[in-house]
Amino acid sequence: YANAPDREVDSVCPYCGVGCQLTYKIRDNKIVAVDGKDGPSNQNRLCVKGRFGFDYAHHGDRLTVPLIRKEGVSKHDVDIDPMNPFTHFREATWDEALAVAAGGLRKIRDERGGNALAGFGSAKGSNEEAYLFQKLVRTGFGTNNVDHCTRLCHASSVAALIEGVGSGAVSAPFMAAEDAEVIVIIGANPTENHPVAATFFKNAAERGAKLIVMDPRGLAMARHATHMLQFTPGRDVSMLNAILHTIIAEGLYDRQYVQANTEDFEALAETVKDYPPEEMEKVCGIPAATLRTVARLFARSKASIIFWGMGVSQHIHGTDNSRCLIALSLVTGQIGRPGTGLHPLRGQNNVQGASDAGLIPMFYPDYKSVEDPEVQSFYENYWGTKLDGKRGLTVVEIMDAIHDGRINGLYIEGENPAMSDPDVTHAREALAMLDHLVVQDIFLTETAKYADVVLPASAWPEKDGTVINTNRQVQMGRAAVPLPGEARQDLWIIQDMARGLGLNWTYTHVSEVFTEMVGAMPSLANISWERVEREGSVTYPVDGPDQPGHDIVFGNGFPTKTGRGRFVPARPINPAETPDLDYPLVLTTGRQLEHWHTGSMTRRSSVLDAVEPEAVAYVSPHDLTRAGMRTGDYMLVSSRRGTIRLKARIDDRMPVGLVFIPFAYAEAAANVLTNPQLDPFGKIPEFKYCAIRIEKA
Ligand code: SF4
Repeated sequence: YANAPDREVDSVCPYCGVGCQLTYKIRDNKIVAVDGKDGPSNQNRLCVKGRFGFDYAHHGDRLTVPLIRKEGVSKHDVDIDPMNPFTHFREATWDEALAVAAGGLRKIRDERGGNALAGFGSAKGSNEEAYLFQKLVRTGFGTNNVDHCTRLCHASSVAALIEGVGSGAVSAPFMAAEDAEVIVIIGANPTENHPVAATFFKNAAERGAKLIVMDPRGLAMARHATHMLQFTPGRDVSMLNAILHTIIAEGLYDRQYVQANTEDFEALAETVKDYPPEEMEKVCGIPAATLRTVARLFARSKASIIFWGMGVSQHIHGTDNSRCLIALSLVTGQIGRPGTGLHPLRGQNNVQGASDAGLIPMFYPDYKSVEDPEVQSFYENYWGTKLDGKRGLTVVEIMDAIHDGRINGLYIEGENPAMSDPDVTHAREALAMLDHLVVQDIFLTETAKYADVVLPASAWPEKDGTVINTNRQVQMGRAAVPLPGEARQDLWIIQDMARGLGLNWTYTHVSEVFTEMVGAMPSLANISWERVEREGSVTYPVDGPDQPGHDIVFGNGFPTKTGRGRFVPARPINPAETPDLDYPLVLTTGRQLEHWHTGSMTRRSSVLDAVEPEAVAYVSPHDLTRAGMRTGDYMLVSSRRGTIRLKARIDDRMPVGLVFIPFAYAEAAANVLTNPQLDPFGKIPEFKYCAIRIEKA
């Protein structure tokens, strides 16, 4: 038949951290369909994004030639002609574009020093791209000002995990839910955000596991829950401390495990004794009897496991939330065995790998501190150049530093901070203030509109490279279709930029970069490019080139200095901004099933766009009626930082006083409203809580 594929290529889904393996069906060099493959994390399953979110790669909006901003066109005018954003740019050759792009950054470095520059890499790209990008910033720019979207999703979880158990990765894959008696899902909406992982949770509940869902929104997973704790937004630490209080006060903790494997138990016990369930019921809205039941179930079961998402991490107390979850696992000994563990569900297909590869301002690859002289000396030898020993700035801090005039040049590969940062008006002003902005992407994103130079890059199905999913599984993405026009592969653009900054890089194949990266990362020992190609998926850590990887870790202690897990107790704090008479409701933001992150790919995927074509706000029936609206009415949503206009959608699962808005829609960008206040440890913004009001438009 007319659309029958003429070839097939195996790869990995470009969207969420589940890392489903898939097969692209191709005809005439275009993807015409996608099938699920029997990968370890998906077992032939795909969600709607993986199955239908592919034709963005062939969309007419793809950038196909390098662009340079026209002389004299202000960066503050980007929305003057939204129907024709290209009017601000002229086409250029690659030679000219690279010379201007690298030359502008080089000039700032030479005149003002490396710390006047910064770079944002991307978790949408491969490990090799992430590794080369951070190496370029560190060795070519001369700064540690390099970060990516992990800062906006699980940075606080990683901070707590490294502090508590010595590693920022999961202790067990999500498939471990199959062996669990009790599954806790907190601050996550896997049905929409990790749909294939959600099938494992639902199946486990079907066969009798207790499924405890904790979330202020009455999410779809609640239908499968044996216990639904719809707690008051922002009061998670109070709820979790009450559960910990019960476990310790009722003697349900694993004394032997605590004594043999942990430290600072006394500090935890001393802190949580102040939070009895009967008191916390008034704060978190969950009856004391339920809190005690959940505590007993979790502690007494043979195997309990915890999954969490950005409802936990995206708060100014995000690190404290994760500290409580780590304490829950450690104090009950529910870690290091089948069916137990700690699993922050990763949002992007390669956020684990990009973080591991060092795309963060405080760590070299493998989370080695940039402030440790021994580590610095290792990397100075490995990369053959002097390095800056100061930790760099994070995503939101970089925007502030641009406003202060401390950072003047920025190189962005594949990120869209003009949509994804909190308080995007502030972030967009920062982008407009830069002396030199280089954006490398596949579309003229909201961020690229502010660029001095735009470099047309590769979509995921156009390149080879490895990615690491939420389960620590290293998998292979393969080029399936050719690049459009003059677009180039990201890896080689980064290399060209490095050369323009004076680095003598001569990589000729992506596997060379992989091998160099593994040489700097003991965590990836025994994993070669050929092995990933041959086996399709290799879990780290792995003890030998022919051994299977360890799905479950921490069975024999923790990779901390003492070999013990550490309790770090937390006390509740208020959200940075609470409702008042002017802004009486609470906003929480996130993703929908059909749209992923800032929407640049899924809104250009025809099926996904057809299903959810327009920005919506999810409002409780009570709040909608009170504002004199019905579902489908246009509404204005305002916070202290701005106003957006979008459609109201009634949602009887939403609690009174809480509104949810997806952040994928540029025409009603949720992050116009959000609060940029940061968690002090993970430096993650409070996307999950700010004060708003709603009114009929
Ligand atoms: Fe892709 Fe995630 Fe859906 Fe799997 S669950 S198909 S990785 S978006």
